[in-house]
Amino acid sequence: MPGSIPSLPAVRPKARVLIVDDNAELVDTLRAVIAGGIPGLAIETAANGRAALARAAKGFDVAIVDVKLPDVSGVDLIRPLREASPFSEVLLLTGFASVDAAIGALRSGAFAFVLKSFRPEELISTVEQALGKVQLKREREELESRYRDLVEVTDVLVFALDNDDKVALMNRKAASMVNTVPEAASGKPFLETWIPEEDRAAMRAALAGTGRAYEVETGFADPSVGTTARRRIRWHLSRPPRSEERALTYGIGIDITERRALERRAADAEALSAMGELAMNLAHEIRNPLNAAVLQLHLLNRNLDRLDAEELTRAALKDRVRIVGDEIGRLNRLLTEFLELARPRGIGREPVHVPRLVDEVLDLEEESAKGRGVKIVRDIPNGGCVALGDREKLKQVTINIVVNALEAMKQGGVLTASVKQSGEKVVMTIQDSGQGIEPDVLASVFDPFFTTKEAGTGLGLSIVRKIVDQHGGDVVIESERGHGARVTVSIPMGR
Ligand code: ADP
Repeated sequence: MPGSIPSLPAVRPKARVLIVDDNAELVDTLRAVIAGGIPGLAIETAANGRAALARAAKGFDVAIVDVKLPDVSGVDLIRPLREASPFSEVLLLTGFASVDAAIGALRSGAFAFVLKSFRPEELISTVEQALGKVQLKREREELESRYRDLVEVTDVLVFALDNDDKVALMNRKAASMVNTVPEAASGKPFLETWIPEEDRAAMRAALAGTGRAYEVETGFADPSVGTTARRRIRWHLSRPPRSEERALTYGIGIDITERRALERRAADAEALSAMGELAMNLAHEIRNPLNAAVLQLHLLNRNLDRLDAEELTRAALKDRVRIVGDEIGRLNRLLTEFLELARPRGIGREPVHVPRLVDEVLDLEEESAKGRGVKIVRDIPNGGCVALGDREKLKQVTINIVVNALEAMKQGGVLTASVKQSGEKVVMTIQDSGQGIEPDVLASVFDPFFTTKEAGTGLGLSIVRKIVDQHGGDVVIESERGHGARVTVSIPMGR
């Protein structure tokens, strides 16, 4: 019963003793002795097996049962009686003492046997012992059930493994993380089922190592889900002492997936800013010779025009020059974009009229759109929609998104650009009717250097995200395969 913790009963009910014997006189004696020796008992009686079972169904703690009953053997009554009332104990009453009788009684599940020629204090002591055992078992069960409930309501993952590293217990939280339920997890090999292969050696070492407490970090996942959905768990293990062969190893786990992701992002940012400095120095070193090369190409091209050669030869040479020029252009673009991403520069904060800015970018790309057979639809208001930010950078954002949209429409299509105000934000949406983005690609489009294009740099959307982040805004990209993509950027108006 997860989610509820039973409270201890405020008053413990009276201990109940059931005497089962058809000899009324003996029953009276037994009742008198026990009631006299153990105060506060509730004592009931039954003259045969059938009546005994009917009474037992209402619950009892200790039954004293004659071996010889009119309808059944007392020995055969032990099991149904104990089943009727959990944790109960049965004392067998016999007429003669022999080792065989004693062994037989204990084998059949009796707590002890009592001779009909009992001494009162002996009987009292035996009944007291049996009651003590029942009481202990009840308390233990109560404690265990409270622990079980705690384990279920807690937010940490809990498991217990047997000697073969098979699951003896797994709480609901842990089970649901691997798409199962505790009952189904029970008995499964823990490592092989849920610990990813690369982490198994570490987990195995932690489980087998010396010392009782141990910490280890592993992935934890339903093997049928992708690696991106895996959680990282920090486990604290408590192993049984070596002397206890059959004891369980307990593990408590805390989900540290988000913490690790944050650490990784911080490390990425640090690496990027370290790279920024390096990149800026490199840019100077590379840009100058590149510019010189562009100049030389230009001259070469002019000289080719004047060259006294066959037209065919000249055309072939000029083609080569063009290819070199294109490649240098690509290098230059990569350099510029990389610098944009890596440079730790602040942003300006001025009122930016977003509709005007989007109009400008669309005018700029109009030719390129025409060349591709793309129709541009503008849903752009005249006034309002002024965001606070860096005009040049927001223009860069718009260019990158519009260029991606155009490049996605190889067979022509429609590009719809809209700008509107929503609450305290200016929202720009660029929608295309291109090939769309596959779901597994969609997860990576903002990663630096991720590209699916032959001549792509994979930096366009990283730059978009960085600039939008700097403005305290949001960028979302949505797509359905074959139905184009939609990029939505919202920038605070910052009033
Ligand atoms: P690049 O354009 O150099 O590849 P980006 O960071 O701008 O770099 O884009 C990364 C990837 O995202 C692209 O290679 C492409 O696969 C995908 N992508 C971005 N925009 C679109 C779009 N409008 N339609 C389809 N795919 C897109």
